[in-house]
Amino acid sequence: MNPAPALSARVALVTGGAQGIGRAIASRLAADGMTVLIADRDAAGSEALAASLVLQGFRAHALPMDVGDPASIAAAFNDIERHHGRCDVLVNNAGIAGACPFLDYPLELWSQVLAVNLTGPLLCGQRAAALMARAGWGRIVNIASISGVRASPGRTAYGASKAALMALTRQMAVELAPLGITANCVAPGPIETPLTREHHTPQTRQSYYRNVPQRRYGEPEEIASAVAFLASDGAAYVNGHTLAVDGGFLAAGFLEV
Ligand code: NAD
Repeated sequence: MNPAPALSARVALVTGGAQGIGRAIASRLAADGMTVLIADRDAAGSEALAASLVLQGFRAHALPMDVGDPASIAAAFNDIERHHGRCDVLVNNAGIAGACPFLDYPLELWSQVLAVNLTGPLLCGQRAAALMARAGWGRIVNIASISGVRASPGRTAYGASKAALMALTRQMAVELAPLGITANCVAPGPIETPLTREHHTPQTRQSYYRNVPQRRYGEPEEIASAVAFLASDGAAYVNGHTLAVDGGFLAAGFLEV
């Protein structure tokens, strides 16, 4: 393992960085002093965020990437190698919900959710780790979910993909440790983002208010803080861990009996 590169030398790639949790993570890592690559299939959103971060005096670039498409991932990493020559921090954040009842769950949707939520992090992890290995230092943070631990209706592929992402993280942690790379997971509870605003019905919201001990949704910046910690020098000996940032949801049993 080599010494940690200076914060100002670090290049951080955040998938799904154009909005929601990814946007908060990209903004936080940029404010911490890293060069941030905002990798998203929403090119206009990534470019708008990069421009706004640059206006604030930070270093940020938009990087077109569809995490569900291996060819797109390969092209984006070729671009990173050409223009930056390094990737010190990878945040696998892009994810889709693909809600549908179990009995009707279509194979096509299953494949699509697994491609984005699981295969994408594998492929990004392999390419990023190869660059990190050259530097002898790196940090991978995967964004899973409480749905990888607790089931709820409609989350067949989502829950399976997030549970598998936690297992993939442990695998990365074990195999990449000799290269100076750590890999950890953050498992968010319900967070206020465009995804939950679109998919959470008033009943879903009420259910979370009843079952989250802190009785509220989290903010994207609260996930970004956890990611910033796991990507920091202070987390050098934290490896293969899943950190729930969920207002106590996973710790709770019955809140009302
Ligand atoms: P969001 O839908 O608000 O934003 C997701 C971003 O990812 C968007 O910018 C979108 O364009 C991008 N994206 C989606 N598919 C992509 C693809 N194939 N390639 C590249 N970019 C893609 O979602 P969010 O709520 O910010 O969630 C971010 C992550 O956090 C996801 O992995 C999600 O599963 C996880 N998560 C969210 C919550 C929550 O309550 N919001 C809870 C637990 C876990």
